[in-house]
Amino acid sequence: MTKTVFITGATAGIGAAAARKFAGEGWQVVGTGRRRDRLDELATELGDFFYPLALDMLRPADFETTLASLPDRYRAIDLLLNNAGLAPPMSNLQDAEQDPLDVAIDTNVTGLVALTRALLPGLIARKGAVINLASVAATYPYRGGAVYAGTKAFVRQFSLGLRCDLAGTGVRVTTIDPGMVETEFTLVRTGGDQAASDALYANMDPMTAEDIAGTIWWVATLPPHLNINALELMPVNQSWAGFAVHRNEG
Ligand code: NAP
Repeated sequence: MTKTVFITGATAGIGAAAARKFAGEGWQVVGTGRRRDRLDELATELGDFFYPLALDMLRPADFETTLASLPDRYRAIDLLLNNAGLAPPMSNLQDAEQDPLDVAIDTNVTGLVALTRALLPGLIARKGAVINLASVAATYPYRGGAVYAGTKAFVRQFSLGLRCDLAGTGVRVTTIDPGMVETEFTLVRTGGDQAASDALYANMDPMTAEDIAGTIWWVATLPPHLNINALELMPVNQSWAGFAVHRNEG
């Protein structure tokens, strides 16, 4: 029986790679995002396996109507991949603008919760699965990333709590915590600064979107009695810098 995955943020990076991977393996993919042109391009590329669904995570009030517009054959969702997300510009909180912080919180937290809630009845009926994209930032803090890290720590703890709520339903819940993956993530975070993005990933062999898509595929296709709670991965060339110590003058 053909399975269906619902992927948020399928217009770029990890979501687009996951859409290609799952469609290539014979799953039906509902791919969402705001950029309609990108969704249409994927639909052309993946044909019958892909249904493009324009959906803005910042507009949870629209979710019910948008989901109701899905054609019958894409309604039975087996896997929700909560991947859409972004980071506000790197900035100490004391220097940050509030609006970009709100966008990150509303996208990464509020939208993710609302969409999960909307799709849970069907996932429970099908003994499906939820895979949430968090980040290593949820565990390891760095300067200028407090709000992004906070949203991802929410995602991880939300996933664990959701497992409790879903006990006995057969629904699996996993968080994937990647380190550096070269996608449009840094381009978005820097407001379109390609040179900054290139410099960040230069000469360090970052993970690719395909690396993460392959991991998501592995998690999704494990035997149904097995739940990976959380999975953290990094490029070999990324590790930790240790504590920062501020010394008083004099
Ligand atoms: P990306 O290339 O920038 O892709 C982000 C995706 O999220 C896009 O498809 C974008 O679609 C979608 N999105 C953002 N805001 C949205 C909104 N309001 N409504 C609907 N879709 C929205 O970044 P990525 O690296 O693939 O990121 C995917 C996930 O992995 C994110 O949750 C990110 O936090 C996480 N992650 C990334 C890294 C990394 O190093 N790249 C590391 C750890 C975790 P539209 O713009 O078309 O709406």
